[in-house]
Amino acid sequence: MVELSLQEVAKGTEKTIEFTRQDLCGECSGTGSAKGARPGACPTCRGSGQIARGGGFFQMVSTCPQCRGTGEVITNPCRQCGGSGHMPKQRVVSVKIPAGVHEGQGVRVAEEGEPGRDGGPRGNLYCYVRIKQHEFLERDGNDLIAAVPISFTQASLGAAIEVPSLDGMKELKIPAGTQHGSVFRIKGQGLPDLRTRRTGDELVQILVEVPTKLNAKQEELLREFAKTENKSVFPKATGFVDRLKKYFGGN
Ligand SMILES: [Zn+2]
Ligand SMILES: [Zn+2]
Repeated sequence: MVELSLQEVAKGTEKTIEFTRQDLCGECSGTGSAKGARPGACPTCRGSGQIARGGGFFQMVSTCPQCRGTGEVITNPCRQCGGSGHMPKQRVVSVKIPAGVHEGQGVRVAEEGEPGRDGGPRGNLYCYVRIKQHEFLERDGNDLIAAVPISFTQASLGAAIEVPSLDGMKELKIPAGTQHGSVFRIKGQGLPDLRTRRTGDELVQILVEVPTKLNAKQEELLREFAKTENKSVFPKATGFVDRLKKYFGGN
């Protein structure tokens, strides 16, 4: 398994993986017999490799299950591998990961897996992909989604804002009157499609933030603004605690 960043998914990468797999036993060179020993004749088929069932015309001949047709069995097993001819060995393989891979996908590396039976070719190695979470970007298929907070004044008046992208900060112009939750699409700033190579888009979702604290000047201006809207707002809160204290005789 390899862990990839979204940048690596975008460009494709090469990863070195280390794992343990069965390899030929060095002691017996894969024969499974102890040094100098020779395999003996299989007792089940008496060395023919085949067993016959039934009789007369309908005798069925099949491969011997004990020796699998070789006619030989290991009588004096190798002490290193116990007669299997294989030993676990560390292996380092470089895996090419194509651009656009998805979470959980397995990248096939031909004939780097476990050895085949009776000296057959090795099976394939599958390297599974995990994708690391990005601080600001979320993947949706081949598109990327970024949620970007802006102030209510930027939303009202329009602004050029900085948005995160796979290759750093990018400028995005948002128009006056942008609403909370609006989504802007930046073409071709997503991830490439694994097959078609067509690049996805980045979707910027706008979060309009309302200030939690206003200084005196800002509050004054907003109250002026509220008057033009003809909307009811709470009266000025500053001095309220002072008035309470005065009323109850505190200092
Ligand atoms: Zn061995
Ligand atoms: Zn046999």
